[in-house]
Amino acid sequence: LRGAGAPEIPFSKPGSLTKIYAVASGKGGVGKSTVTANLAAAMAADGLKVGVIDADIYGFSIPRLLGVTQQPTKVDTMLLPPIAHEVKVVSIGMFVPAGQPVVWRGPMLHRALEQFLADVFWGDLDVLLLDLPPGTGDIAISVAQLLPSSEILVVTTPQLAAAEVAERAGSVATQTNQGLVGVLENMAWLEQPDGTRLEIFGSGGGARVAENLSTLTGTDVPLLGHVPLDVALREAGDDGTPVVLSAPDSPAAVALRDAARHL
Ligand code: ADP
Repeated sequence: LRGAGAPEIPFSKPGSLTKIYAVASGKGGVGKSTVTANLAAAMAADGLKVGVIDADIYGFSIPRLLGVTQQPTKVDTMLLPPIAHEVKVVSIGMFVPAGQPVVWRGPMLHRALEQFLADVFWGDLDVLLLDLPPGTGDIAISVAQLLPSSEILVVTTPQLAAAEVAERAGSVATQTNQGLVGVLENMAWLEQPDGTRLEIFGSGGGARVAENLSTLTGTDVPLLGHVPLDVALREAGDDGTPVVLSAPDSPAAVALRDAARHL
């Protein structure tokens, strides 16, 4: 048990050089976790020291996407995170019995996140990525409080209905004074055998979110790219090797790597 007072979070100390990106979406199923895992793997492959916190408490999927099966190891009062594809990973999924749902209230979520930040031995990271739960809930606010220098990356599909909710998730940043690092459009289209693009979810969602968040914040919130639908990407996630590593020349991998290099 820890003594009184707030635990020290190395990333919030003045002078910390770690870039922190919280990956957000309006709703679930748009590929937020897949994007997080791929950005992390792409950055690590580029030689950066990368950590990922799976803060999607109710829908944790980062361990599977990165193929992590180990638990963190305890050394004195600290936890050593498992490493997969050169990425240090901690997930709430590592602390609940398999198959059991997480039924925690806001204060417990806050406390769990605080422990991930303060009690895990991350070492000197260049980048810390957080996979947020969808929407604008407690965890997004905890992230803003515990990591005021974190910036938000919004993932959306091209669908306008999805874009509207994504905008709401992004607009949290204006209330928490966080930066918005950009928008990534996922599931942008499916390339047909004849090379034409089938826009299954419509088009324009990513551009719209970027534009509206730019207007809202009075800063330039760039559209970081379009990631197409790709069977290889889904398979890679199921196999625990992100597509940027398993099929680096696929259009989805190229788009994800480009986005990673813009961060
Ligand atoms: P979220 O974190 O937003 O809930 P996930 O990353 O879990 O979404 O993705 C939802 C599902 O969609 C997963 O089965 C994933 O493999 C699949 N998926 C995500 N992006 C793509 C894509 N570009 N092409 C094909 N499948 C995708």
